[in-house]
Amino acid sequence: MLQTVLLVDDSTAIHALLRARLKDEPITIHSANSGGQGLEMAQSLNPDLILLDVDMPDPNGFEVCRRIKADERLVNTPIIFLTGAASSEQRIRGLELGAIDYITKPFDPAELRARVRAALRMKFMMDLLAKKAQIDSLTGLWNRRYFDQRLEAELSLASRTNGSLAVLMLDLDHFKSINDRFGHPTGDEVLKRVAALLVESVRVEDVVCRYGGEEFAILAPNTETGALPLAERLCAGMRAIEIPIRNELIKLTISIGVASTIGMTDRALVAQADAALYRAKENGRDRVEVASAETVPG
Ligand code: GH3
Ligand code: MG
Ligand code: MG
Repeated sequence: MLQTVLLVDDSTAIHALLRARLKDEPITIHSANSGGQGLEMAQSLNPDLILLDVDMPDPNGFEVCRRIKADERLVNTPIIFLTGAASSEQRIRGLELGAIDYITKPFDPAELRARVRAALRMKFMMDLLAKKAQIDSLTGLWNRRYFDQRLEAELSLASRTNGSLAVLMLDLDHFKSINDRFGHPTGDEVLKRVAALLVESVRVEDVVCRYGGEEFAILAPNTETGALPLAERLCAGMRAIEIPIRNELIKLTISIGVASTIGMTDRALVAQADAALYRAKENGRDRVEVASAETVPG
């Protein structure tokens, strides 16, 4: 996908010049003609890079930079200041305010492109690292950290839109014995296989996470009463898995606890699903249990 650059400058001549100089770069350029408009567009676009003129009527570039760096969502957006050639004071102030670089007017075309490319390369790496921090390296599923964030977001979306949210907590049955009999590397392969089955079995808007170890969690928005059939389907899918190892077939079962915002208080969803999972284990494993109103903690 093309990276997005926001150019904030009160001179239309500079917009025309920079667009011409950067026309062959793999970027989309958006123009703001004042500091105020620049701030608004930064919020709505969430660009990969901001090229920011220092000398503008109120708010000037420094003030725009200060406000962007104070915004939690935009704090990591790189800013390159466009400064007058003479002013090393301006350049220092800009860097101290959190800009990563500056380009002096009049622009040297090759230097301009090199600095823009370097900043966008860095942004790309930062985005990649941020994404990696949310992904489980063994299975490629979302990790627990992502689950916690997404749960909050989905709960708030469900309450704003009068939708519903179901949480499924899943735990493989007697998984330790697979490790004990076939070794940890085989156990790892089994976890990957399970992850693939879960991803295949849910809707695109459902969020499948590795909650930890051999436990998984699924967020299923707007399933209404469909969360129980989904869980039953996953249980059945797990029973159908056969993994040939040496001269044996590894068979799997899973226990699932389901809780839904329908008719329940929101905040304790995970605890409710967990309690239901615990009952599924107690009642003999390889089954689904649904949280009921009586089991609501507190
Ligand atoms: P239960 O039916 O009660 O859930 O029994 P269980 O054996 O599945 O549960 P227990 O909590 O006793 O054991 C979980 C096992 O999962 C123990 C641990 O070694 C294994 N495990 C956790 N993470 C990994 C992993 O990344 N790879 C492998 N191979 N095993 C893992
Ligand atoms: Mg477990
Ligand atoms: Mg287990």
